[in-house]
Amino acid sequence: MVEYDVIIIGAGSIGVPTALATAKSGLKTLVIDSLPSVAQGDNKHAIGGIRATHSLKSKIWLCQRSIEIFASWKALYGEDIWWEQGGYCFLAFTNEHEQMLKATVRQQKGYGLNIDYVDSEKIRELVPGINNVNLKGGTFSPEDGNSSPLLAHHAFYRKSREFGAEYNFNERVIGINTENKKITNLKTNKAQYKAHTIINAAGAHASEIGNFLNVDLPVVPESHEAGITEPVKNFFSTMVVDIDPAVDNMFGNSKNYYFYQNKEGKIIFCLTPEPNIPGLDRYETSSFLPQITKRMVNLLPRFKNIKIRRTWRGLYPMTPDGNPIIGEVEDIEGYINAVGMCGQGFMLGPGLGELLSRIIIEKLNSKDYQMLEELSYNRDYYRIEDLK
Ligand SMILES: Cc1cc2nc3c(=O)[nH]c(=O)nc-3n(C[C@H](O)[C@H](O)[C@H](O)COP(=O)(O)OP(=O)(O)OC[C@H]3O[C@@H](n4cnc5c(N)ncnc54)[C@H](O)[C@@H]3O)c2cc1C
Repeated sequence: MVEYDVIIIGAGSIGVPTALATAKSGLKTLVIDSLPSVAQGDNKHAIGGIRATHSLKSKIWLCQRSIEIFASWKALYGEDIWWEQGGYCFLAFTNEHEQMLKATVRQQKGYGLNIDYVDSEKIRELVPGINNVNLKGGTFSPEDGNSSPLLAHHAFYRKSREFGAEYNFNERVIGINTENKKITNLKTNKAQYKAHTIINAAGAHASEIGNFLNVDLPVVPESHEAGITEPVKNFFSTMVVDIDPAVDNMFGNSKNYYFYQNKEGKIIFCLTPEPNIPGLDRYETSSFLPQITKRMVNLLPRFKNIKIRRTWRGLYPMTPDGNPIIGEVEDIEGYINAVGMCGQGFMLGPGLGELLSRIIIEKLNSKDYQMLEELSYNRDYYRIEDLK
C-alpha cells in the first residue's frame, strides 16, 4: 500500500493551496478528488472576492496571509492570476446598517485593518453613477481585492506539483479506517492508501467524509447563483456589497448581493437568496436573473444596457455560525477538518493551507493556537457571529 505523510480529500479552494503548502514543507502529499480535474467543485463557482475585513480574528489573520499570497504571486512565480486590489465597499441605506457598519469598523480597526466608514460622496467617487437616494455612506477597505478563481487555482495546482504534490482525479474516497483511535488507511473506489494525516477538504460533501469517522460535522450545502456580463470599459474597481435586503417588494425577496468589475471589464455578480436554499442542486433557477438585474440596475442605472453572458449556480458549505471548522478532533489521531468555508473558501484557502501545514509539521505559533480555538469543531456554534 502506498504511504503518504498527508492525504487531502478534495482538490478545491482549500485542498489545492493546502497541497501547495504541505508539499513546499517537504511533506509527501497526495490529493484525491472524485471529479476529473482540478477545481471542478465549488471553487469554479466563486466570483473571486478576497477580503481580510471580517470581524472574527481568525478569518482576519487567515485572509491577511491569503492576500499576501495572492498579491505577491505574479512577482514570485511569474503567473498572472488577475489579482486586483480594488477594495471592498459595504453600503448603508438605513440608520440601522450605518450603525452596524460603524461598529464593525471600530472593531476591525482594533485588529489593525485598513478600513473606514466613508460618506455617500466618497461612495459616489468609488462607484460612479450609483443611485444615492437614501445612501448614507458605507465602509471602504482599500487593501481587499479580487482574483480569478480559475487562474489562481490552476497556478497553485501547477506550483504544488512542482513541489512534489501528487493528484489522483476521478477517484472517490469511500472510507477511512482507524485503529486504537488513530488513522490507519484511506479507501477509495480504486485503491487503498496509508497516511500519517488525512485532511477533509471535501467542501459541500465534508459531512459525508466526517461520517466515516463518526465525526458529526454541521456542514450543510446551500445554493447560490452568480453571473457575468459582456466586457465594458472599466469604470470602478471596488467590490460593492449591498446588504439591504429586498423584502417582498418589486425586487422580490433576497438578502445581500455583491458585484465587481474584473480585469477584462466584465461585471461579476452574486446574490444571497431568501429563504436559503439548502441542498446539492446546482441547476440554475429562472428567478435569479430577474431578481438581481432589477436590484443592480436600480443601484447603478448605467448597468441597464450591459448584456449578461451567462449565469451559474454553486454551493456554499454552510455552518451554523457562518465560520469554518478547522483543526484536529479529540480521539482521532491523524484526522484534520478543513471544512465549512461558507461563502469564503476562495479567500481563506492560501492562508489556511499554510496553517494546516504548520499543524502537521508541529510548528504552530501563538496566533495559530488562537485561530484553532476560535474555529474548533467543539466550539459553541451559536455564540460567534460574523458578516457572512
Ligand atoms: C456563486 C458563488 C460565489 C462565491 N463567491 C466567493 C467569493 O467571491 N469569494 C470566496 O472566497 N468564496 C466564494 N464562494 C465560496 C467558495 O466557492 C467556497 O467556499 C469554496 O469553493 C469551498 O471550498 P472547498 O475547498 O471547501 O470546496 P470545493 O472547492 O468544492 O472542493 C471540494 C472538492 O472535494 C471533492 N470531493 C468531495 N467529496 C469527495 C470524495 N468523497 N472523494 C473525493 N473527492 C471528493 C469535490 O469533488 C470537490 O472538488 C462562492 C460560492 C458560490 C457558489
